[in-house]
Amino acid sequence: MVRVRFAPSPTGFLHIGSARTAIFNWLYARHTGGKFLLRVEDTDLKRSETRFLDEILEDLKWLGLDWDEEPIFQSRRFDVYRAKAAELVAKGKAYKDGDAVLFKVEPGRTIAYEDLIHGRIAVETETIKDQVMIKSDGSPTYNFSCVVDDAHLGITHILRGDDHISNTPKQIIFYEAFGLEPPRFGHMPLILGTDGAKLSKRHGGVSVEEYKREGFLPEALANYLVLLGWMPKDGREVMPPAEAVRLFEISEMNDVQAKFDIQKLRWLNAEYIMKAENTRLLPLIKSQMEAAGFKTAAIADDYLARVLDLYKVRTKTLGEFPAMTDCFFREDFAYEDEGKKHLETPESREYLALLADRLAGTGDFTHDAIEAVFREFAEERGIKAGQVFHPARMAVSGKTKGAGLFEMMEVLGRERVVARMRRAANG
Ligand code: GLU
Repeated sequence: MVRVRFAPSPTGFLHIGSARTAIFNWLYARHTGGKFLLRVEDTDLKRSETRFLDEILEDLKWLGLDWDEEPIFQSRRFDVYRAKAAELVAKGKAYKDGDAVLFKVEPGRTIAYEDLIHGRIAVETETIKDQVMIKSDGSPTYNFSCVVDDAHLGITHILRGDDHISNTPKQIIFYEAFGLEPPRFGHMPLILGTDGAKLSKRHGGVSVEEYKREGFLPEALANYLVLLGWMPKDGREVMPPAEAVRLFEISEMNDVQAKFDIQKLRWLNAEYIMKAENTRLLPLIKSQMEAAGFKTAAIADDYLARVLDLYKVRTKTLGEFPAMTDCFFREDFAYEDEGKKHLETPESREYLALLADRLAGTGDFTHDAIEAVFREFAEERGIKAGQVFHPARMAVSGKTKGAGLFEMMEVLGRERVVARMRRAANG
């Protein structure tokens, strides 16, 4: 049975690259009916913090990952590592240097393995110096505790970043020393920005928590991270987690560096927002609005849902929603500079004033009825529809773009629409 693990160090927030590692291990476990385990690599007692661990676990759950068995903590297993190191000293394979314990690397050998992603990787032992297993402060090194624990957990496959390629031969040497069969390793190429540089803040953020905060849906982020390591044969890109689990093949993983393209992630996010249920989006939208300074307690859910219906096909992140829709929630919204010209001519003001009067007197205030008023007016005057649409859109929303003009007006309601058109007419 496949047993894989994710081994975060709780010394910071969950990095996008680590999240991708976690997702692929999870995908492999779920695809094969195996187990996905968590191991907390908190051997650096000074830098490890519970708040980071809590956030990492929360982010993993948020991304839709679940794990089997209780997580193990390396900080609670120092005795085990020391005992394992002593075992190798007793076998003559390691030696003590003060309080530290080092592994004797035998020269003249080739350590080779078949990487699941890159194919054969071989390293000469001449290039590997004696390996510290236990440091003089009694704590284990990463390579040593990693092997002791992966063996203890019965890990069969290890998918991790390319930054660990140089560690793998050192780990294989420990497996040999214990007389154990090493697991299969697969190293995923690192994620770069579209400019080819190491992923950093300027490419759009490096931690999962930032994307959560900006209003990305977890399945969109997870879907995107999957595409940064693998794509199904049929080339489909919108692939909810259950689909990815079904289609995933470890042998199809990319061996070239992945470029993190925020525009593509935004596009995927929009796809998921569009299809999401309002009941799910409403609380998320509310927290975005609160963060943007709106008081949502005073906003009725059904009103918010109507605005959402107009904008869920237009917003790429939930974080953009408050600014796109501010005219629905406040009277003192600003006029966009680029649209002000539509409100500055005497004719446009005259049209707005006359249209406001007509809208004040129409029967229904529905999309269709409002549109009829506008079309009739333009026809009577012999003007192009745009000559009244642009000023009206600016007057009611302050923006040159947004949802359909008449849909917006219907949701805003007669009173606000008429007042806003009169206000714009009066300059
Ligand atoms: N704690 C290590 C890391 O975060 C784990 C590496 C591994 O998967 O072996 O990079």
